[in-house]
Amino acid sequence: MGIAERYRQVADEVAATARACGRAPEEVRLVAVSKTVGPDEVAAAVAAGARDFGENRPDQLMAKAPAFPEARWHFIGNIQSRRIPDIVANASLIHSLHEERHAQKIDRAAAALGKVQDVLVEVNVSGEASKSGVAPADALALVRAAGALSHVRVRGLMTMAPQGDPAAAEATFKGLADLAREVRAQLPADAAADFTELSMGMSEDWRCAVACGATIVRIGRAIFSESFEE
Ligand SMILES: *Cc1c(COP(=O)(O)O)cnc(C)c1O
Repeated sequence: MGIAERYRQVADEVAATARACGRAPEEVRLVAVSKTVGPDEVAAAVAAGARDFGENRPDQLMAKAPAFPEARWHFIGNIQSRRIPDIVANASLIHSLHEERHAQKIDRAAAALGKVQDVLVEVNVSGEASKSGVAPADALALVRAAGALSHVRVRGLMTMAPQGDPAAAEATFKGLADLAREVRAQLPADAAADFTELSMGMSEDWRCAVACGATIVRIGRAIFSESFEE
């Protein structure tokens, strides 16, 4: 199978899984994580209908996003302060905000470009030392601080689950969904209306994430790697 077939198969499965969970297929957006491939592979996925791509390095984002203006580009990697202007210039959604000082810098970069930058707050639900993100107890404060900036719009939460442990992944996804409900309930009505996204689920665990309420799944290997098998 080539990339186009794999993309279509994953997209169909995401839609079918949403339906099986009693959700509308449009409620779950598939972000094709293209961080390991080049422009030819991105072009193959675009031809198959992909319109959302994820990158974790600013250089890759800067190279690919302008070449595929028909797509929305998602920044899913570690935010380095000095690269924020490059990220903001190219990202439709930043998934990985976890520091208030970065929110302030995103706000300034977005203001300079005349845009409002959509962001998600990354939460370390599982508490693994290797994972980035704010502690669940600190999510509300960062959502409020970022949401107070005029060129930043907080759209929801993002997390990464422990790999290779389905029970831990499910607990992580449920934890993020519960936290999002709690945070949303504390926001003023206009901010709560924007706060609808749950970015969770990757190649190995996206089905469980959809069942737990994911609105965005980030899938790389299942689309772009010949050798990926579940
Ligand atoms: C690489 C990456 C993904 C995609 O992972 P796969 O296992 O290849 O599907 C999703 N989210 C983030 C933050 C990533 O870095």
